[in-house]
Amino acid sequence: MSVVETVLGPVAADELGDVDAHEHVFLRTPVNPGDEFLDTDKAAAELLRVAAGGIHTVVDLTPVGLGRRPGELAEVSRTSGVHVVAATGFHRSAHYPAAHWARHADDATLLDVLLDDLQTGMDRHDWDFPRPVPTSHKAGIIKLGASYHRIDRHEERWFAAGAAAARDTGVALAVHTEVGTATHAALDLLDKHGVPAGRVLLAHTDRNPDPELHLDLIARGAHLVYDTIGRIKYRPDSVLLDLIEHMAEAGRLNHICLGTDVGRKSSLRAYGGGPGMDVLGRDFVPRLRRRLGDEAVETVLRHTPQALLAKEISGTGLPAVGTTA
Ligand SMILES: [Zn+2]
Repeated sequence: MSVVETVLGPVAADELGDVDAHEHVFLRTPVNPGDEFLDTDKAAAELLRVAAGGIHTVVDLTPVGLGRRPGELAEVSRTSGVHVVAATGFHRSAHYPAAHWARHADDATLLDVLLDDLQTGMDRHDWDFPRPVPTSHKAGIIKLGASYHRIDRHEERWFAAGAAAARDTGVALAVHTEVGTATHAALDLLDKHGVPAGRVLLAHTDRNPDPELHLDLIARGAHLVYDTIGRIKYRPDSVLLDLIEHMAEAGRLNHICLGTDVGRKSSLRAYGGGPGMDVLGRDFVPRLRRRLGDEAVETVLRHTPQALLAKEISGTGLPAVGTTA
């Protein structure tokens, strides 16, 4: 059975229903001061809207140190009925101040943190307390981040730790890209560390809606998540519909996922903002269905993300990783 680890325990991949493959239920980062959202009731209200829009699962790609609240994640998943797949890992380095431990920890410690979150349960204090207090809520995916057109020396170490943890646990690996850049570099680095492109989800590729680039990345095996839906300041959603149609014509929808990636309080309905975490199901999916039909919608919301999220244990021929060089 293909299993996905959610905050409420393992779920068969084909039980996930329609998946929003990039969200943040809670988030706090020095990159967006004043735009943090950590309220449990408001998170539940936002997820109820997501459920009303027809989405059954959200992948919360909030990595270590940016406001993860494992117990509350489980609580709002239960309240809303929405499956939540939580992340561990490290974002691009701009999200961690110069003194943050993640920049200074040795390789073995970085890997231990990820494996604890994936195998034991996410730390209650999101690794911001002298002694870890594991919860019973495991992460189900690894998140990494690359800078604009480059992967810096901190990110390189976090990629190595993330790749080792992915090899050990079989979970998929999502990579934040800045405006869709450094995508080939991210795949190269993960490949060097033994993670094939087929286990990688490249985020924000729709910020650089270049169909030729996307088809090249997919030809390597990578999955792409178009996750700035409803963020009209970037471009109209019709550009994304065109892009998805382009991928469909190339027969590549089995490498495309969709998401909203709401990363600011001001983007959430529960805080009086917009477009809301529910914009994918509410506004975009009906347009996609009208443009490409039911089967295409089912591919990008169900088959592709479900297959990617399902743990792949063994069969890679790679040695188990317990320590790093
Ligand atoms: Zn995000």
